[in-house]
Amino acid sequence: MTTAVAVGSVYHTGEKAPVSGRFEFVRHGNPDSHCEPKAEEQSIALAQGEALPPCRSCAARTVWSLAEIL
Ligand SMILES: [Zn+2]
Repeated sequence: MTTAVAVGSVYHTGEKAPVSGRFEFVRHGNPDSHCEPKAEEQSIALAQGEALPPCRSCAARTVWSLAEIL
Protein backbone atom coordinates (compact mmCIF):
# COMPACT_ATOMS: atom_id res chain seq x y z
CA MET A 1 0.00 0.00 0.00
CA THR A 2 1.45 3.33 -1.00
CA THR A 3 1.01 6.52 0.93
CA ALA A 4 0.24 9.92 -0.51
CA VAL A 5 2.11 11.58 2.32
CA ALA A 6 5.44 12.94 1.17
CA VAL A 7 8.26 14.79 2.79
CA GLY A 8 7.86 18.44 1.90
CA SER A 9 4.06 18.41 2.16
CA VAL A 10 2.74 21.55 3.82
CA TYR A 11 0.27 21.71 6.70
CA HIS A 12 -1.34 24.49 8.68
CA THR A 13 -2.05 25.03 12.36
CA GLY A 14 -5.05 22.92 13.36
CA GLU A 15 -4.61 20.28 10.67
CA LYS A 16 -3.78 16.79 11.90
CA ALA A 17 -0.44 15.17 11.26
CA PRO A 18 -1.07 12.50 8.58
CA VAL A 19 1.87 10.46 9.86
CA SER A 20 4.17 10.54 12.84
CA GLY A 21 6.99 12.80 11.83
CA ARG A 22 9.15 15.81 12.31
CA PHE A 23 7.73 19.07 11.06
CA GLU A 24 9.60 22.26 10.33
CA PHE A 25 8.37 25.79 10.62
CA VAL A 26 7.90 27.41 7.21
CA ARG A 27 6.33 30.77 7.95
CA HIS A 28 3.58 32.47 9.87
CA GLY A 29 0.12 32.58 8.35
CA ASN A 30 0.37 36.35 8.59
CA PRO A 31 3.17 37.46 6.25
CA ASP A 32 3.50 40.71 8.21
CA SER A 33 4.49 38.91 11.41
CA HIS A 34 7.82 40.01 12.88
CA CYS A 35 7.97 37.04 15.22
CA GLU A 36 11.05 34.86 14.87
CA PRO A 37 10.54 31.56 16.64
CA LYS A 38 13.52 30.04 18.39
CA ALA A 39 15.42 27.29 16.62
CA GLU A 40 13.99 24.60 18.90
CA GLU A 41 10.48 25.87 18.15
CA GLN A 42 11.05 25.49 14.41
CA SER A 43 11.43 21.72 14.45
CA ILE A 44 8.82 19.62 16.22
CA ALA A 45 7.94 15.95 16.40
CA LEU A 46 4.29 14.96 16.27
CA ALA A 47 2.48 11.64 16.44
CA GLN A 48 0.00 10.75 13.72
CA GLY A 49 -3.33 12.47 14.39
CA GLU A 50 -1.92 15.22 16.58
CA ALA A 51 -2.87 18.72 15.49
CA LEU A 52 -0.21 21.01 14.08
CA PRO A 53 0.30 23.68 16.73
CA PRO A 54 0.43 27.44 16.44
CA CYS A 55 3.73 29.27 16.80
CA ARG A 56 4.92 28.75 20.36
CA SER A 57 6.38 32.26 20.54
CA CYS A 58 3.40 34.31 19.40
CA ALA A 59 0.51 31.77 19.23
CA ALA A 60 -0.28 32.77 15.65
CA ARG A 61 -1.30 30.41 12.89
CA THR A 62 1.71 28.84 11.27
CA VAL A 63 2.64 26.87 8.17
CA TRP A 64 4.64 23.66 8.70
CA SER A 65 6.27 21.26 6.29
CA LEU A 66 6.83 17.58 6.87
CA ALA A 67 10.61 17.21 7.13
CA GLU A 68 10.94 13.56 8.06
CA ILE A 69 8.59 10.60 8.48
CA LEU A 70 9.36 8.86 11.78
ZN1 LIG B 1 5.47 33.42 16.00
